[in-house]
Amino acid sequence: MSNAEKCMTNNCTTTECTTCTPNMDTQAVLDWMATEEYKEKNFAREALVINAPRTCQPYGAMLCALGIEGCLPFLHGSQGCAAYFRSALTRHVREPVPMVSDSMTEDAAVFGGQANLIEGLKNAYTTYKPSIIAMFSSCMAEVIGDDMKSFIINARTQGAIPEDFPIAYANTPSFVGSHITGYDNMLKGLLNSLADTRNGKWTNGRLYVVPGFDLYAGNLREYKRMIKAMGIYMTMLPDPTEVLDSPNTGEYKMYQPGTSMGELADALNASGFLFLQKYATMASQKFVKNVQKITSEAVTMPIGVQNTDAFLMTLQQMTGKAIPAELEAERGRAVDAAIDAHQYIHGKRFALYGDPDLLIGLVGFLLEMGTMPVHILCGNGSEAFRKEMEGLLAASPFGSEGKVYVGKDLWHMRSLLLTDPVDMLIGDTHGKQIAKDANVPLARIGYFMTDRVHLHRQPIIGYQGTINLITMLANMFIDEYDRNCPSERFEMLR
Ligand code: SF4
Repeated sequence: MSNAEKCMTNNCTTTECTTCTPNMDTQAVLDWMATEEYKEKNFAREALVINAPRTCQPYGAMLCALGIEGCLPFLHGSQGCAAYFRSALTRHVREPVPMVSDSMTEDAAVFGGQANLIEGLKNAYTTYKPSIIAMFSSCMAEVIGDDMKSFIINARTQGAIPEDFPIAYANTPSFVGSHITGYDNMLKGLLNSLADTRNGKWTNGRLYVVPGFDLYAGNLREYKRMIKAMGIYMTMLPDPTEVLDSPNTGEYKMYQPGTSMGELADALNASGFLFLQKYATMASQKFVKNVQKITSEAVTMPIGVQNTDAFLMTLQQMTGKAIPAELEAERGRAVDAAIDAHQYIHGKRFALYGDPDLLIGLVGFLLEMGTMPVHILCGNGSEAFRKEMEGLLAASPFGSEGKVYVGKDLWHMRSLLLTDPVDMLIGDTHGKQIAKDANVPLARIGYFMTDRVHLHRQPIIGYQGTINLITMLANMFIDEYDRNCPSERFEMLR
């Protein structure tokens, strides 16, 4: 019997006994889990995901739907899924998130979900009075093969909703892709279902800007501010800024401002589309560019100076508008911030995980700061992502140690941190346990942030976002040094 088992058998509750504190058996296992041998076994794991750095398709569809003004997201599926999506977003942004489901249960799984969908539509329409409903599916509805399109037609003919009530729908099977795929499918569904047919060569003169799966209200505001500073007539599609960060007026508002129905209807008459996350919008890009033949560009998320330069130059090329002095001055301030903080960041080793677009932007920023991204883990990356990331690393002298891990989880990341330590981990709240195990600081950048407040209000894109990132990382390193340095080095100046 091990020491731990003996202690448990005896119902030991003393805090002074050292028999199992630390328990040597447990410690031996923990030590072994920090070895290359365990890492190899961990990376050979196939049938289990531990602490996945991604979520399922309907979550992304919900975010996309929330960006349309007066739109009620409607999940054709189980109520528990809807509750999870709502609470996960609420915990990140600390705002109420409206969404309904048709609460499919066992009988719907056997007989199909049409009855639930029709009753659900009727209730949602009469109770919550939306201007539009965006419907998407959970894995249960997809497994049994429910035909949402026919069910919606039947709901109209049965009078559950008016014949002309606008409904967009998208299939979002959770066993394929991730939240970014769901976002993409819903966006394509909105365009397919509710945008008017393109009016020949005539355009409405608006640039439609698609932010992608981005839970930073600060980023969305920053995009709009920079684009408007260039004098560009634009529409953000979808625009969930106010859902992610709404003013407290003392009165609950179910629907926040977003992309208006009129702007959605007119989307295919855009002068152009700019996609700010290419991996999160693959299907929508193809639809806009190849099917609708609308001028479109996709850029790397503008994180860091070089990526922001490329973003602004793309805007310039697409619209012919000049980059104003106001933005040039901001660039100068970002470069100044990088130089001032360089000594605290240069040469540091980083591990990071997150969505593909976020990682491409962040690694570009880390390389231009002279740091070394070592472990780059993307749970929902594709081979195209891996290729682009490896190219990015190969193009910089600071990328030589970088390795890309696609389709892996945070338990894999734990092994990487313990066998090949870094100075800092970058990721969302899900990384806090592995950061603690590896005794490494966690810079909270990404989604979801459920254990810190207001980070989603501060932009990480554009020149201002770059200054914010530099400030965060440099000060974290300084804090670490202050906490751990010998007393003779504990000084006022850093
Ligand atoms: S994976 Fe399926 S069951 Fe789980 S939350 Fe997503 S839709 Fe619901």
